[in-house]
Amino acid sequence: MKKKLSLPQQIIIALILGVVVGLVCYFTQTAEFTKNFLKPFGDIFVNLLKFIVVPVVLLSMIQGILAMGDLRKVGTVGGKTVGFFMGTTAVACVIGLVLANLFLSLDLFPTLTLGDTTYEAKQFDGFMSVLIGIFPTNMWSAFVNANMLQVIVIALFLGGAMLAAGEKSQMCRDFVDSAYAVIEKLMAFIISLSPIGVFTYMAWVTAMQGAEILGSLALVLLCAYVGYFLHAIIVYSFSAKAFAGMSPIAFFKGAVPAMIFAFTSASSTATLPVSKECADKMGADKDISSFVLPLGATIHMDGTAIYMCVATVFLATCAGVQLTLTQLIMVVAIATLSAIGTAGTPGAGVIMLTMVLGTVGIPVDYIGLIIAVDRLFDMGRTTMNITGDIAGALCVTKWTNGKLSDNK
Ligand code: ASP
Repeated sequence: MKKKLSLPQQIIIALILGVVVGLVCYFTQTAEFTKNFLKPFGDIFVNLLKFIVVPVVLLSMIQGILAMGDLRKVGTVGGKTVGFFMGTTAVACVIGLVLANLFLSLDLFPTLTLGDTTYEAKQFDGFMSVLIGIFPTNMWSAFVNANMLQVIVIALFLGGAMLAAGEKSQMCRDFVDSAYAVIEKLMAFIISLSPIGVFTYMAWVTAMQGAEILGSLALVLLCAYVGYFLHAIIVYSFSAKAFAGMSPIAFFKGAVPAMIFAFTSASSTATLPVSKECADKMGADKDISSFVLPLGATIHMDGTAIYMCVATVFLATCAGVQLTLTQLIMVVAIATLSAIGTAGTPGAGVIMLTMVLGTVGIPVDYIGLIIAVDRLFDMGRTTMNITGDIAGALCVTKWTNGKLSDNK
């Protein structure tokens, strides 16, 4: 009897096939084929994921809160989660800056000049107005616009209020339970289609961006990827071992399906259902991961932080701006905050980068030098972003329950 391939195996095969088909199309100059006929299927798949993401985040967070049983526990888990997120993102910034300066001092970065590109900067409206923006004035518009920070706030409030309402909230609790069971089934079905998404997106990226990988930005890309890699090895291996008590190899092996998925889709939010499945399989407490992962996919962006630091140092040299130590420290602070504000969707990080550039006096038009290959940076940074979330779910589980769960 033939054994059916497991989903991770199917995903890995899809990835390899995607690269092969992409390369064939690239060398036969039929890249347009991937864009017109393969990518649309990837887009359909990502649309499906995006369509369930709001209910998944809302329901899974409320369920996680209800399962914790009391508000104090929610507070403690929340505190540990945010502590883990902030700590790893700050380290990510330092890794990014040190590496970028190393590449710079070894004269590895090219100095490119600006053509006549112009770019509209995203304004940093100040901390307070960002804070105000997190609180929705209209619940439905938060859902309609998939404003994930607002959805999280709504979930926290509704979950907290259900706990506070005690027995009277039983009907609401049953509704959340039942609706989440339905969404989980739907999610499992959509995830089973992920090899299609991985194959089509990989073929498209390889065929369309092949030339760019070999182009003038190759070393800047390399710098970012070395940063991603070091961060994974140093921070996530360490966290898995020291905090979650599991071997780094087992950790990365368990996270592979989500990592490949994030790499091809470049969207933390769309990867959320896959991350949840991986984290739970590795022993995250399901209620804790229901809380940590949606929050992580929205505010925890280590890969984006590394990218922002590398890109800022690179673009500063192109613009002839010498960054002082104080400015570098500012880059760490603003990059950490901007990473929190970055949406978990493709290309969001490069928009937030304009904010970092603005604060250290680099004209935002310089973003034009890097934007064409943003997807290649984005694939790596999204992979790091979700790997960090999975590590967070496992560490917070261990910190809270004293051990990982047996979810097999
Ligand atoms: N694409 C990234 C993510 O979804 C965000 C970014 O552009 O940095 O995590």
